[in-house]
Amino acid sequence: LSELRADCARCASLCCVAPAFAVSSDFAIDKPAGVPCPNLLEDFRCGVHDRLRPLGFAGCTVYDCFGAGQRTVQEVYGGRGWRDDGVDAGELFDVFGVLRGLHELAWLLAEVLGLPQAVEVHADARALTSEIDIVGRRSPDEIRSVDLADARARTGAVLRRTSELVRTTPGRDLRGVDLVGRRFGRDDLRTADLSGALLLGADLRGCVLQLTDLLGADLRGCDVSGADLSTALFLTQVQVNAASGDADTALPGRLQRPPHW
Ligand code: SF4
Repeated sequence: LSELRADCARCASLCCVAPAFAVSSDFAIDKPAGVPCPNLLEDFRCGVHDRLRPLGFAGCTVYDCFGAGQRTVQEVYGGRGWRDDGVDAGELFDVFGVLRGLHELAWLLAEVLGLPQAVEVHADARALTSEIDIVGRRSPDEIRSVDLADARARTGAVLRRTSELVRTTPGRDLRGVDLVGRRFGRDDLRTADLSGALLLGADLRGCVLQLTDLLGADLRGCDVSGADLSTALFLTQVQVNAASGDADTALPGRLQRPPHW
């Protein structure tokens, strides 16, 4: 999984330039896509790195490129970044956007391949992972023409089947349900399907999310203090970073405890 983790030292701060920001609880400023954040320094470091949350840039502490940043700069552009002569910055940002989407899928497929109960779909997961890896070695034009929606749909089918195979005793079906601000008891969500659910500001303190499907669930501001997420399915670092937890929150081994917890 190491190549699917951000390595900022080998990138060129693409996440501080490529996306647009809109003033919100996550960003203190508006910024169009492709324009450097005013806090970005000449050497690609963030000038407010140690004060992001107090200054209203919580969104920067949540973001994860899944390793697409260093792949774009080092592999596709041979170590050159958006500031370098001869580089079409707009093209580079497009490539980064596609690779970021594909790397997120690769991250989820790696989880599938680590689940022995999902052996039925391992061949499909390996084929999709290989496809994604090959795309990263193509030219910028070829990468830009990748149909990300199609890749998401085909990966989604593998993830759905994996969820069925792993959750042999399915819990509550809460797919896509609006659960904003809801309070849950310790055992309410074991083996539940919360894929695509809205859990903004929900209270999951002390909950056991054993084999709970969290694919694409919105966990912004969700309190998972003391919760057991160690076997939750399809949980990403972005979701964890967006939630609020503590030293007693149990996470899957592939994820890191956010510094702001
Ligand atoms: S505030 Fe810092 S980390 Fe966030 S986008 Fe700006 S330069 Fe990057």
